Amino acid sequence: MANPSILILPGDGIGPEVMAEVRKIIAWFGDKRGLKFNVSEDLVGGAAYDAHGAPLSDETMAKAQAVDAVLLGAVGGPKYDKLDFSVKPERGLLRLRKEMDLFSNLRPAQCFDALADFSSLKKDIVAGLDIMIVRELTSGVYFGEPRGIFPDNEGGRVGINTQRYTTEEIRRVARSAFELAKRRGNKVCSMEKANVMESGILWREEVQWVHDNEYPEVELSHMYADAGAMQLVRWPKQFDVIVTDNLFGDLLSDCAAMLTGSLGMLPSASLGAPMANGRPKALYEPVHGSAPDIAGQGKANPIACILSFAMALRYSFDQGAEADRLEKAVEAVLADGVRTADLMGPEGGTPVSTGEMGDAIVAALCASL
Ligand code: NAD
Repeated sequence: MANPSILILPGDGIGPEVMAEVRKIIAWFGDKRGLKFNVSEDLVGGAAYDAHGAPLSDETMAKAQAVDAVLLGAVGGPKYDKLDFSVKPERGLLRLRKEMDLFSNLRPAQCFDALADFSSLKKDIVAGLDIMIVRELTSGVYFGEPRGIFPDNEGGRVGINTQRYTTEEIRRVARSAFELAKRRGNKVCSMEKANVMESGILWREEVQWVHDNEYPEVELSHMYADAGAMQLVRWPKQFDVIVTDNLFGDLLSDCAAMLTGSLGMLPSASLGAPMANGRPKALYEPVHGSAPDIAGQGKANPIACILSFAMALRYSFDQGAEADRLEKAVEAVLADGVRTADLMGPEGGTPVSTGEMGDAIVAALCASL
């Protein structure tokens, strides 16, 4: 069988810097673990606009559709702030998500013990935390019609957005959550507002239907999203996988992410329907942006991007044990006190550069053999 293919889109700002470290990790897995990937690279965001006048060319889009996984760095920067909306760097990312139909957004909130002090919550509440938020990404109130700002009958204006979900949109993201739960703690909590929204009632019924008919072996619970937000900060370790809609997922995943400390640590995956080879369409990217304030200075933390590659190993390439190996290598490096500038606590110390962090993780991988 051909080697699995990866398209790397480093993007702008710190994107290329953190992606260079991911390249070291990919090379290590090729050399030491026999995991050979067919890697290609292309432009997205401002870099693509500079080269082609568009934040994602049709050729790059076609490549993204054809590979097994896309790894993206970050897009955007002040240089592009005044561009027309239609060619802004972010449009490149939105086009990828839309045309690949990436409906399931996975945002893990994992707290490495060495960083437990970074959380705004007490150490014992977050230490060892490992939850996954699955957010529906392509429907709901961000896309529903009618939408817009219209004149009303009293001489004022009315702003309208429509929360809309179909059976199939709910079922497919629910399946993705149940599949994930089977590889983790076997528990799904579905969150909506069935107490005040009809779309919430449908959401609850359809998630329950998928459970009863397809995944009866997974433990399912339901929670109103506001209560869920409260529980996330009160006792987050009660959760394994949380599945929720686009709007609530946007809020809850940011909230959960911050339980764990720094933006430089947070990976994500966006998955679509299975391709002919059975693998889901997939885009992996750190949660952070292009960080123009530190770009080009070797200060960026590459861990979010490296952990995004660990997610690719797990969810696109069925290499769960190698994903564990990579996550453990990151944990070991942090436990040794190796820190980029964003992870320096009040006690201070000397931060390492982006490249030194990547090298330390490669060294920890070597030590794992
Ligand atoms: P940002 O995530 O780029 O940066 C926020 C803060 O976190 C900055 O102080 C930055 O230095 C720091 N930071 C972020 N990532 C870091 C890392 N890996 N290591 C160390 N520190 C890190 O968000 P922003 O400043 O609001 O946006 C900057 C640009 O990025 C904007 O053009 C925005 O539109 C774009 N953006 C892109 C994405 C994406 O590509 N997915 C996401 C968010 C923002």
